[in-house]
Amino acid sequence: MISKKMVNYVKNSSAIRAMFEEGNRMAALYGKENVYDFSLGNPNVAAPTAVKDAIWEILDTEDPVLVHGYTNSNAGYEDVRAAVAASLNERFGTHFAAKNILMTVGAAGGLNVILKTILDPGDEVIVFAPYFGEYRSYTANYDGVLVEISPDTETFQPKLDEFEAKITPKTKGVIVNTPNNPTGVVYSEATIQKMAAILEKKQKEYGTDIYLISDEPYRELVYDGAEVPYLTKYYANTIVGYSYSKSLSLPGERIGYLVIPDEAADSEDLISAACVANRILGFVNAPTLQQRVVAKCLNESTDISFYDRNRETLYQGLKELGFECIKPEGAFYLFVKSPTADEKEFCAKAKEFHILMVPGSSFGCPGFVRLAYCVAHETIVNSLPKFAELAECYFK
Ligand code: PLP
Repeated sequence: MISKKMVNYVKNSSAIRAMFEEGNRMAALYGKENVYDFSLGNPNVAAPTAVKDAIWEILDTEDPVLVHGYTNSNAGYEDVRAAVAASLNERFGTHFAAKNILMTVGAAGGLNVILKTILDPGDEVIVFAPYFGEYRSYTANYDGVLVEISPDTETFQPKLDEFEAKITPKTKGVIVNTPNNPTGVVYSEATIQKMAAILEKKQKEYGTDIYLISDEPYRELVYDGAEVPYLTKYYANTIVGYSYSKSLSLPGERIGYLVIPDEAADSEDLISAACVANRILGFVNAPTLQQRVVAKCLNESTDISFYDRNRETLYQGLKELGFECIKPEGAFYLFVKSPTADEKEFCAKAKEFHILMVPGSSFGCPGFVRLAYCVAHETIVNSLPKFAELAECYFK
């Protein structure tokens, strides 16, 4: 028999799996080009050629025993971590060293490592709706309690009054994700400053340490010159979780890192505990070949213009049809208001037109749907007449 905890996880993940299977079923039935699948955040841009070149170069020139071996430290190769730290310092004016960087199995691995590191059963983790649904499972993995801040459906910026009211002596972590999945919103510097001030105040009031966990796989995916503040500069107890899944289009390679700055409370303990967590969660160390690859590609980036073109086409197209949504400043998602209160009903209706999207309730924000526009441009262009038919069902 599977564990009681797994029963819940399986139940919750079956909706996503069902959608994935439905996409495949529809593609087989109607032809792939006649299905408009906006359900998955899987980049449709190839990794930069520098990634392929780096792989060949490493395999041709480096010691295979070393390249494919366990790393000496569970944190990853020392020289890779030093290179990541130096690159961050150059870009953001920080002063990290190799010891502050822990290479991880993507952002998902990093989040699990840090939550395992800081959570005791019953500790609370605050998230701002709408949020990446996996935070629920990651928090539950370590018997933490997820505390949701309700969404501001006008701006999708965090509701700071509610945030302040919901911080308790049991609050151990706060997860922020900017640029955001599923809204594409970027939190402004003023918002971050206010959030940091609230956290400082509450830490003082309760005599606790509250870690701000910045989950930032979309940091590099911004449009129109949007600025994404580097959070360690605003609040000492910040941990950054980064991933190359989207920035270099390497989601299957499972590579990212955590930054644990010296300024974070009990930093040395956190760093060594996170290292142990990386090991005992079964990751052991982040994939070694990919560690070496990203170290060679620190100045590479994905083709933002591809996503930007998709963003403009989908956003303008849907607005013209009467759908309501805010223009994303980052990531590759559009969060659209459902024209009917039950967004699951709207998703079911869209499916009749071969359009697949994810209900907002998966992100703690019912009444909205998420469209992932990391798809081929023609998928978007060809989907617009179908969206027009869908719109006819609601706006006549
Ligand atoms: N956090 C957010 C907000 C995401 O959207 C995703 C993936 O879509 C992840 C974390 C996990 O990313 P990774 O592939 O780096 O584990």
